[in-house]
This record gives sequence, structure tokens and C-alpha cells, in this order.
Amino acid sequence: MAIKIDIRQLDQKKQNPVLIEKITYTKEQSVVFDISISIHSNDTYLAEGTSSFVQEKECSKCLEHFNLSEDIHFRDLYVKHKEDLMTYEDSFDGNIFLVEDSIIDLGKSIEAAYAEAKILVHPCRPSCRGLCDVCGTNLNEMECKCSEENIDPRLEALKNLKL
Ligand SMILES: [Zn+2]
Ligand SMILES: [Zn+2]
Repeated sequence: MAIKIDIRQLDQKKQNPVLIEKITYTKEQSVVFDISISIHSNDTYLAEGTSSFVQEKECSKCLEHFNLSEDIHFRDLYVKHKEDLMTYEDSFDGNIFLVEDSIIDLGKSIEAAYAEAKILVHPCRPSCRGLCDVCGTNLNEMECKCSEENIDPRLEALKNLKL
């Protein structure tokens, strides 16, 4: 994904933020985002935005796959000079990317936000009942007998021991 903003155009503008835009990017799926770019300090630009996209996730409780639509916020710094990658490393808490050939590639921000969202775990729905701890039955689909018997799973093993 590459969404290229030429900073030579931004540098001519007298206002700050220098760019506010709503962009729709379509590849495998449609990604919509609101973006603003402002001058952060000398030769550094702050890119902020929210991207909304749908991604397939595995439920953290029942392990079924489902589609989740999410709004992901990002706040990244784009620097013109390589040295500044280090300069801002400790003081800035978003990602820091290099401006290459006078181009801010917002795709880097989107990809980083997307990758981050991917590792967050969610249940498929708030009411998901998950899997039974004892027998592994998906409790959204059917009931199992484990809770009726109300036996501590650690004792279950003992019960089956033939002494
Ligand atoms: Zn679930
Ligand atoms: Zn069970």
C-alpha cells in the first residue's frame, strides 16, 4: 500500500496543518481514513489519522473466525533527515518514518496501524460463551454436561483413577 504525499507542495502552504483529507484506499478491501499532516518542528511532519477497516480475526474465547470492523488511530512522525530517526526515538511515542525523495508515504502509517490491530485479541461478540474448559465444546453452539455435574476439572481426573 502506498499513499504518497509530496512535501514540496506542503512546504509552500502557509497554514498548519498543511493537509487535511479524507482518503479511500481500495486494494483487497476498502480502507477509509481521515488524515491530517502538520509541521511538527524543523523538517519533521506529524501525520495523524484514523483508518477504518474490516479484518478477519480469531475469537479470543471460542476461536471461531469472524470479521471485525475497527477504527484505528495513528499518530506518526515523518522526518526528512536520517539522524532524526534517532533524535525523536525517546521523546515521540508513535512510529517514526523517513521522508524519502520528498515523499511522505502514508501507507507506512496505515500498515503499522493495521499490523498492531491484528495482534489485539477480541471476542467475536460480547456475549460469546467461549469453549468449555473441560471438554472444549463451543458453548455458543451447544451445551455440554460439564457444568451440570459441577465437578472441579482437577478432581475429574481423580474420579477416573481406579485405586
Ligand atoms: Zn467467540
Ligand atoms: Zn464441557
